[in-house]
Amino acid sequence: MEHFQSETVTVAQGSAYDVIVVGGGMAGVGAAVAARRQGKRVLLLEKGSYLGGLATLGLVVLYHPPLDDGAGRKLVGGLAEELLHLSIKYAYDDLPEGWTFRAEKGPEKGRYQTVFNAPSFALALNELMQQEGIDVLYDALFCIPRMERKRCTGVSVETKAGRYFYSARAFVDASGDGDLLHRAGAEMVERPENALTFWMLSTDLDNMQRAIEAGDVGKAIRIEAIGANPHEDCVEKDVKRYGIRTPEEVSEFIMRGMNMGLTRLKSFDRARRCLVSIPGMAEYRKTRALVGEYTISEKDREKHFEDSIGCTKEEFEPHCIEIPYRCLMTRQCDNILAAGRIISSDGRPRDTIRLIAICVQTGEAAGIAASMLAGSDTTAADLDVPTLQEKLTAQHNKLHF
Ligand SMILES: Cc1cc2nc3c(=O)[nH]c(=O)nc-3n(C[C@H](O)[C@H](O)[C@H](O)COP(=O)(O)OP(=O)(O)OC[C@H]3O[C@@H](n4cnc5c(N)ncnc54)[C@H](O)[C@@H]3O)c2cc1C
Repeated sequence: MEHFQSETVTVAQGSAYDVIVVGGGMAGVGAAVAARRQGKRVLLLEKGSYLGGLATLGLVVLYHPPLDDGAGRKLVGGLAEELLHLSIKYAYDDLPEGWTFRAEKGPEKGRYQTVFNAPSFALALNELMQQEGIDVLYDALFCIPRMERKRCTGVSVETKAGRYFYSARAFVDASGDGDLLHRAGAEMVERPENALTFWMLSTDLDNMQRAIEAGDVGKAIRIEAIGANPHEDCVEKDVKRYGIRTPEEVSEFIMRGMNMGLTRLKSFDRARRCLVSIPGMAEYRKTRALVGEYTISEKDREKHFEDSIGCTKEEFEPHCIEIPYRCLMTRQCDNILAAGRIISSDGRPRDTIRLIAICVQTGEAAGIAASMLAGSDTTAADLDVPTLQEKLTAQHNKLHF
């Protein structure tokens, strides 16, 4: 491949921060809020024009996995619980009665999860950033890290105003695709695993009637989940799988997704049923993941870890898992932490840790860890994990199941 460098691109100097978070999905929001609440100056970079990532732009409007253990006991608290309630602050929900904010126990039958309205949640997230005092750059594409050996000193960002350089003492990669860690030289695993998927929202007269009868506008909205089921073994073996190996591959994934959407649209009775929204980003479930200091997989079910930063019950599996801090870091980068669907994980547990609530959970842990790195000369590998755990517990997180 031919490489070239343009001589006309100049890089303007942006501000200096304690912590920079790359990617404003659920993990990035969690990381930014957590670092800010530790008193740090935080910059959140988002290439889109609103926050939430796959949860809002991608129309994945189901806040999962449930925050409880299925027997009425809460397992996930912290920011994951706070953002669940924020997701439904300005619109409908289907949260079972009894699961109130910071309740330790709830109904055994109704799980602690909800549907939410994506645009209302995006507006609420934008409000939250301002309330917290987090600097957000929208429409700002992270491009390249500046590395001094294993330490990142700043990132260049492509914006409509040109290319800017922002420096910081610590970083969180919440890009969903590991863009920062990958470009910083960390070992990543990248398998083209995604069968075609396209989630759209629609409404129709029957649903509207049901919503009117129930006095609940949320019942008018329907998720048109087209394509692959998340469980790999439910997807036919010879189905084409996509990754992010070339720009053409990504575009084909998006274009063929939209073709599937159009086929569904053509089947509508246009007087009775219409689309409300289509996704604004590629609906990849898994792209790159960090090969971290520890990789969580099936072998770790029901296992306790001394360096756990949170726990959950696996989706559709009866097993509890704890997430070691070591899944968020690599010795190849001293001051960059992973958050969200890119943390070091494999097998079925990976299909749980990539769900919204757990992305917020790992985002919160990465944000606090980054704030600790920003305030000292230590490295991610030498971080004082008991202190991180104390800070997480003080924020209502549960470390062990
Ligand atoms: C079809 C589908 C169905 C799903 N179903 C569910 C479900 O029912 N329940 C559930 O809980 N989860 C579900 N998930 C999973 C869940 O939605 C995601 O895994 C989770 O939201 C990922 O959060 P994240 O913050 O790690 O990454 P993302 O949501 O991918 O966020 C990454 C953010 O970073 C930004 N970004 C990326 N690169 C750059 C860059 N270079 N510069 C600046 N910004 C950048 C992106 O624009 C995005 O906002 C589903 C996912 C898919 C695809």
